[in-house]
Amino acid sequence: MPARHQIFEQLRQELVAIPVVDTHDHIRPRDTFERPFTVSALLRNTYVNRCLRVADGSANGIPLRRDSIVVEDSWKATKEIVERVKLTSFYRWLLRGLVDLYDLPSAELDEIAWKRLSVELARRYTDPDWQRTVLDRARIQTVIWDPFWKAGTWSVPEVRFRPSLRISSSLAAFHPDASDYEGCNLIRDWSQTFNVTVDSLTDLEDLIERVLAENLRAGCRSLKSPIAYERTLAVGPTSRATASGIFGTSPASISADRRLAFGDYVIHFCLERAREHGLIVQVHTGLARLSDSNPLLLARLLEEYPDVTFDVFHGGYPWVHEVGALAQNYPNVRLNLVWLPQLSTEAAIQALKEWFQVVPQLDRICWGADSWTVEEMYGGLQAAKFVLARALADLVDEEYMSLDDAVTAAQSVLYRGGAKIYGVERERVPDTR
Ligand SMILES: [Zn+2]
Repeated sequence: MPARHQIFEQLRQELVAIPVVDTHDHIRPRDTFERPFTVSALLRNTYVNRCLRVADGSANGIPLRRDSIVVEDSWKATKEIVERVKLTSFYRWLLRGLVDLYDLPSAELDEIAWKRLSVELARRYTDPDWQRTVLDRARIQTVIWDPFWKAGTWSVPEVRFRPSLRISSSLAAFHPDASDYEGCNLIRDWSQTFNVTVDSLTDLEDLIERVLAENLRAGCRSLKSPIAYERTLAVGPTSRATASGIFGTSPASISADRRLAFGDYVIHFCLERAREHGLIVQVHTGLARLSDSNPLLLARLLEEYPDVTFDVFHGGYPWVHEVGALAQNYPNVRLNLVWLPQLSTEAAIQALKEWFQVVPQLDRICWGADSWTVEEMYGGLQAAKFVLARALADLVDEEYMSLDDAVTAAQSVLYRGGAKIYGVERERVPDTR
């Protein structure tokens, strides 16, 4: 029996060239980033920025003040930021990705590496093929793409992208002046495109259908629910008459209860569309408004929609055991490791080991990078591969499973699981053994 580190190395080798389905990513089109694209611009568009938030009383991890602390493009300013974040998993994996993609001369960001990165970032972000090159290098076959800056966007920057329709802007559409937490509103964003006026709940339902139809034509396979950032995950029963009565209330005068009730109705409406079109419902759980984002709050919906598949995101962190319990109890639940390896490598390893033991059947756990830039996506994939090799090496070493089964399990998380869940299998996974 080889030692644990040998098994780990063997598994890592197996995963080097594996094709990948990235089931959740934001990858912003290159031309939406500032120019020239600097080191500080990169950091502002990564989770490093999240680590630098100030206590402004916001409950959901999203700063009330959107201006970033990362502003100055100098080595001195960058060094100060690095000193603050250098132990976080977010930073470690971003840096690994950068070292690899930009051939940085050292494993840590020092002045020489910073200079090289500054020159190369600016240069590569003028190259229209740069993002595609990184996706190819990562062997990403499909990206389930979430353009959060304008929910409903269906024109994709890359053929391998499939839009996921974000439902939050529809929840805010009880009035055209209302906004979701990202500033979106389905009526404001899309009624002109279709040349329609939205004066009633019926009009709104019609608009949702139209936006969905365009998304479906563009290869959409899922709805995305980020609601935990602004309301509870628990969805109550509601009636169309109630929602119809709430429609048109101005955002200044609507009560929290009525806003919630309207949202409940729209969520049910969207879940019925998911059932009708066989769409996967992607749900952000865990880190958001912590008082209301425990994944167990989904139980009622999972029972109400047994024929809809729910992909539960982020391991529900910190509720990683709870999502395991959901997947064990409800066959319509899938678990998504998305973001967790970058958030805490160690938490992801422990969670995965537990999930392999708890979740019945293969191909029910998948992965995504949840990044705005290809650089962070690339580092995030390295994190996922590391996490898989560590978790599975433990299980092989403990004689819980064979090495062959470990390889199959890793391939499932990075490719087959995502391909099967989202129905996007394009090529057979080459047998790397
Ligand atoms: Zn995301």
